[in-house]
Amino acid sequence: MLHDKDRIFKNLYGEQSWGLEAARQRGDWDGTAELVAKGREWLVQQVKDSGLRGRGGAGFPTGLKWSFMPKQSDGPVYLVVNADESEPGTCKDREIMRNEPHKLVEGCLLAGVAMGCSAGYIYIRGEFVREAEVLEAAVREAYEAGLLGKNACGSGYGFELYVHRGAGAYICGEETGLIESLEGKKGQPRLKPPFPAMVGLYGRPTTVNNVESIAVVPTILRRGAAWFAGLGREKNTGTKIFCISGHVNQPCTVEEEMGIPLKELIEKHCGGVRGGWNNLLAVIPGGSSVPLMPKSVCDTVRMDFDSLREAGSGLGTAGVIVMDKSTDIVKAIARLSKFYMHESCGQCTPCREGTGWLWRMMERMAQGRARIEEIDLLFDVTKEIEGHTICALGDAAAWPVQGLIRHFRPEIERRIVEYTKNARAAA
Ligand code: NAD
Ligand code: SF4
Repeated sequence: MLHDKDRIFKNLYGEQSWGLEAARQRGDWDGTAELVAKGREWLVQQVKDSGLRGRGGAGFPTGLKWSFMPKQSDGPVYLVVNADESEPGTCKDREIMRNEPHKLVEGCLLAGVAMGCSAGYIYIRGEFVREAEVLEAAVREAYEAGLLGKNACGSGYGFELYVHRGAGAYICGEETGLIESLEGKKGQPRLKPPFPAMVGLYGRPTTVNNVESIAVVPTILRRGAAWFAGLGREKNTGTKIFCISGHVNQPCTVEEEMGIPLKELIEKHCGGVRGGWNNLLAVIPGGSSVPLMPKSVCDTVRMDFDSLREAGSGLGTAGVIVMDKSTDIVKAIARLSKFYMHESCGQCTPCREGTGWLWRMMERMAQGRARIEEIDLLFDVTKEIEGHTICALGDAAAWPVQGLIRHFRPEIERRIVEYTKNARAAA
């Protein structure tokens, strides 16, 4: 269980002002020039030693990612912060930008120094109008106080920070789609490799990090890598912001220790599942892009990257979607299929054609208007999409359907049998 003293985000609920003065009282921007002075090797090593893994969904080690950036460069290299938070069930970065923007702004400077960047771009989701206004105001405050700019914090290091608003496409949250959009082009993902660390924004080495990953960095550097590494579990260290929605008594966003049991997370912070734990049907633990878990798995699973992977799902964005027994689970997954079909950028065939196919098939499955053999066909098609596309949206569309078939096949079969029986009776 996380103690208040170990909480990084002290103003997650906006009880105090987000502004610079209040942020300083909470400890932000304290000794930043001294941290800058320690130099890039020290900064990268601290983040490596902390065990921080990317908080955007993939869980890639942040320090390792930073170390891919060139040590010497013949031109500019960039930091890009992915604030295009659009994953269904996910609203953690939104709370950081609303209520703790200075943690992100200071984190950008420190990450920039660690990678030798002279500029950073925060790409914020178009719908986050209020958050963009707050963030822009926080960046302005930081410039006026001499914390950013030519001589950031009086350290002698020059760092410029820009906020760029997106226009509402989910796919612009994919890092290379985001880079294309930032360059003023259509937001379509690029083939990887080359990874952005080699060829990124304007063809230059670039690191794209999630908002939460960057916002925790100043606290890690001030309190020490060992402190962060001492929280959570091995290879799954630190704290994490979870957003819990759906059929719980009090949906909430909360910072907790990585590895907290799912049941404890829901009972401690959300007043439990509506109608009690035994009324739970399933949980999608990491935004919509990871497979659902039936109650039997939820009973014991821990909320961290490795535990959830071993349980056949994933931590993803830690957007926990709770579904009780009143849920039409087939219809719920069919709705997610519609989402992925709508958000596909259309660039590669398995995704462009496959997501529409999955949705139409799922709609029929939800009504029972299908044949039993088509369940296997549906599963096979998800396997043809998974791993055969330019970006992870194809996988994300396939996994919820796979999870449904894996855990709720009897429910799909029941609908088909019932529909067929009714159709015969009516004929
Ligand atoms: P990924 O595993 O391909 O990459 C993760 C990061 O590591 C990337 O920045 C990538 O550039 C870097 N990387 C990986 N291998 C590398 C290598 N060999 N060399 C250099 N860099 C390397 O995952 P992804 O496609 O970036 O992200 C997928 C995740 O995004 C999903 O797990 C999903 O949960 C999440 N997601 C989040 C949101 C949101 O709103 N936050 C929305 C959609 C999806
Ligand atoms: Fe576009 Fe889908 Fe291909 Fe990603 S997988 S590049 S969203 S068509």
